[in-house]
Amino acid sequence: MIPKTENASLLIKNCTLLTSDFQLVHDQTIVVNDNRLIALGDTSALSAAYSAKVTVDAKGKLAMPGLIDSHTHTSQQLLRGRITDELPMIWTRIMVPYESRLQEKDVRISSQLSCLEMIKSGTTSFIDAGGQHMSQTAEAVLESGLRAVLSCSTMDSGPEIVSAMKQSIEENISRNRQLFNEYQGAGEGRLNVWFSLRSLLSCTPELIEKVFEAANDCATGMQAHMNEYTNEINYCLEHYQMRPYEYLDTLGVLNDHFLGAHSIFMSANEMDIVKERHCHIVHCPVSNSGKGVPNTPHLLQKGIPVSLGTDGAGHTGLSLFEQMRVFKSLMRASYGAPYGDPVIMPSSSLLKMATFGGAKAMLQDDQIGTLEVGKKADFILIDIDQPHIQPTHNLVNTLIEAVSAKDVTHSVVDGRLLMKDRQVLTMDEEKIMYDSKLAMESLFSHAIR
Ligand SMILES: [Zn+2]
Repeated sequence: MIPKTENASLLIKNCTLLTSDFQLVHDQTIVVNDNRLIALGDTSALSAAYSAKVTVDAKGKLAMPGLIDSHTHTSQQLLRGRITDELPMIWTRIMVPYESRLQEKDVRISSQLSCLEMIKSGTTSFIDAGGQHMSQTAEAVLESGLRAVLSCSTMDSGPEIVSAMKQSIEENISRNRQLFNEYQGAGEGRLNVWFSLRSLLSCTPELIEKVFEAANDCATGMQAHMNEYTNEINYCLEHYQMRPYEYLDTLGVLNDHFLGAHSIFMSANEMDIVKERHCHIVHCPVSNSGKGVPNTPHLLQKGIPVSLGTDGAGHTGLSLFEQMRVFKSLMRASYGAPYGDPVIMPSSSLLKMATFGGAKAMLQDDQIGTLEVGKKADFILIDIDQPHIQPTHNLVNTLIEAVSAKDVTHSVVDGRLLMKDRQVLTMDEEKIMYDSKLAMESLFSHAIR
């Protein structure tokens, strides 16, 4: 028999596949060449047609699009366990002293640990909300093989306590532009650089306009923490006599390249504005639960694109499976049970927010977010042949009810295997764990009140 010539780089055989409309098909093969999905279909048909350098037998596994964390803080990985159950103001008492103390090496190790946790949790792409020394985060992302959107933490006003993190408008813009010039499109297009506003409480109108101009000029995205706290709403009402989204709209900075993180407390008029301007929204269920519950059913009903984020390890672990499960409970408790509507947040809607919704938030839904021929090969395999998963009447429901980060066995981003049988291939897990411990100890050797 004449051996077939290699016409693919990676073959995933015998898997169950989650389609873009959340149906399940069995005995499937995924064919990847270079960084793209070139064929999907029955194993019997495709295994005869393709031969690859690397073949994975995925019997007993589910292949689904990689999860997309649309709001995280990779530089806060060394804050794990430090914030929960703390009294206010966490921002000024813990976050600001922590972030302003970070050296380049701390951001590097924090970002590495964050990327490592994401790979092991089934996350293949993320949007970092913006921190310090972001070139270090960029390097960690390039090393990890993940896909990401990065920006700098941007603020020019606020109380005395945040002065270490404030910069002039020019400094803020030039720092972010430098990151853009250096890393936009790096890693064969895996890295994108956006601009950001830390929050409306810490940005002057002049800075907001300049950030928008810069993002526009670079034809890239812009993000901000929005409508997260009631005191932020009060601040806008007091200073501008408008609510946060109304205020940004009068500045002319809202469009389809704007991502509003959290967006918990939104008035009907703000929802109309977000809809009209085609903005994107990302909720962070666990982090948000301590502040309020967004009216997501209404946002979805209006056709506003919603995605999910973790808000970083300071608030919770980086598993989006956990976020989806918590969000389902939050939505049922807030908008289901009180109105006798048990199907207020179906499992497929949650999965869509964590995959395709994230792809839209990243402005890359034509490239990632679903498993379709022609798209980039970003997907994960889940070991579904386990007693907490099988047998099931509905695997899509079980994904939300019972699957956790630990069930993810393989991760593929841009056609490259990042994790195989839970072994991360791109990063030195043992060294990162060791170095993170030392970095955390040294950062907190001076007590943060
Ligand atoms: Zn955040």
